[in-house]
Amino acid sequence: MNDLRELYQEVILDHGRRPRNFEVLEHAQCSADGCNPLCGDHCRIYVNLDGDILKEIRFHGNGCAISTASASLMTQHLQGKSKAEALEIFECFHEMIAGSGTTETCTPRLGKLMVLEGVRAYPTRVKCATLAWHTLKAALERPDSEVSTE
Ligand code: ZN
Repeated sequence: MNDLRELYQEVILDHGRRPRNFEVLEHAQCSADGCNPLCGDHCRIYVNLDGDILKEIRFHGNGCAISTASASLMTQHLQGKSKAEALEIFECFHEMIAGSGTTETCTPRLGKLMVLEGVRAYPTRVKCATLAWHTLKAALERPDSEVSTE
């Protein structure tokens, strides 16, 4: 696991150990399940909306440090954003981790999420980092769905 040491920066470790917004949200307006069989990560995302705004975002489940930290950072970052903004940030995040990298437009949108940029060097961890995001997208677009990264 030595090659992962560099990747596990302080923020990632912190969020992996003490995830924020980590709780079941009963009667959430939108929710979805996600799993990443490659690593064994499971998460469920809960969202309550206020009109078009993501008012409350919570997650629960179990997964590796990367998937937990990514979900934790995501819930913090997207709280108070509109659905459209959240989907734009999702696209930026995906480009940063699995695509051609960040752009001048994306960097300010990503903010603290930039700590996960190092994941792009570890292709097997990309699905861990994007699991919560795919699940959130499913919760917003197709509530009560199940997604798999496979
Ligand atoms: Zn994982």
